[in-house]
Amino acid sequence: MADRILKKENLGKLVASVNDKGGRFIAPSLDARQVVFKDVTKAEEIVTDYILARNSYKEYVFPQTEVVADFTVEKHGVDLKSREVEARETVVFGARPCEATSLSSLRAIFTWDYIDEFYTKREATLVVITVACTKADEACFCTTVDLSPETRAGSDLYLLETESGDYIVEAMTDKGRAFVERHKDAFSEGAAKAKTLVMPERIGTIDLEKVSARLKDKGHYDDQVWARLTRKCIGCGACTFVCPTCHCFDITDEGTAFAGERRKNWDACQYDTFTLHASGHNPRHYQYQRWRNRFMCKFNFYPGKFASKGCVGCGRCIRVCPVRLDITEVMEEFSR
Ligand code: SF4
Ligand code: SF4
Repeated sequence: MADRILKKENLGKLVASVNDKGGRFIAPSLDARQVVFKDVTKAEEIVTDYILARNSYKEYVFPQTEVVADFTVEKHGVDLKSREVEARETVVFGARPCEATSLSSLRAIFTWDYIDEFYTKREATLVVITVACTKADEACFCTTVDLSPETRAGSDLYLLETESGDYIVEAMTDKGRAFVERHKDAFSEGAAKAKTLVMPERIGTIDLEKVSARLKDKGHYDDQVWARLTRKCIGCGACTFVCPTCHCFDITDEGTAFAGERRKNWDACQYDTFTLHASGHNPRHYQYQRWRNRFMCKFNFYPGKFASKGCVGCGRCIRVCPVRLDITEVMEEFSR
């Protein structure tokens, strides 16, 4: 049977088709000499030779900051009006298989005890087009968390690159099939051979079950090992901002005493103010306690509560950390 193909010369046609129909096309592109996910309007802006975009595409379903309501203070109370979410087709091209799975982790949080419509409406119009990995670096560890470049979960379209720079297209979901139909002029049929995928080597010294068991054991909660392993962390929060599964946010009111906006802003458990009480008490007074929380969230709280993963092994936190704190080294320590 013939494959569905996206030819490299038709990538521009696809970008134009999405934009012309009122959608956004997000793809890896250069910004300040870094490859990042951003809006593109032509194929020439898209970078195809990259390992992973520096930022996660989570900001297209969970923006760094957004107004969720407007308020005015009246004589007899506060008038609060919720904002409507703009839900236009948003296409993320060039996600990697590890991060495609992270969407189920975000969904688990944003639909858990409360349905967050700001998230769910955006996710409903998001189309994830994954390009399987033909390159990896030292920070990639998807296979250690039981994923791989062959993982298709979370992708609406799963693309395999060919030697000539075209893509073999596999539609994984109804949304993906509808997308191909809607933009059918950009796709063709043909036969092609995919490039070999690159599998990051599994880190043999890591055993996720042991990590999880150790974290569940309350007798180890205050182990000195936390301080030893994470002493160099400066609490910059970069690891949380680039992480595709980190999801913490804060709500702030901005404006005057009479009117203003209620905003939802990314927050990070690595900040000392994150758990600071109004009394001045902080249950996570030391940085190692904040780091412990992040690690516990990924390998104890998430697996205990949800079927989705707290960490997909993308390695972004390792690449971005200014003090080279490597999460896999902590996983190794707890595997022993
Ligand atoms: S914790 Fe690090 S490796 Fe795991 S998903 Fe987040 S950024 Fe990627
Ligand atoms: S990026 Fe590194 S230094 Fe910054 S909070 Fe994360 S672990 Fe700490």
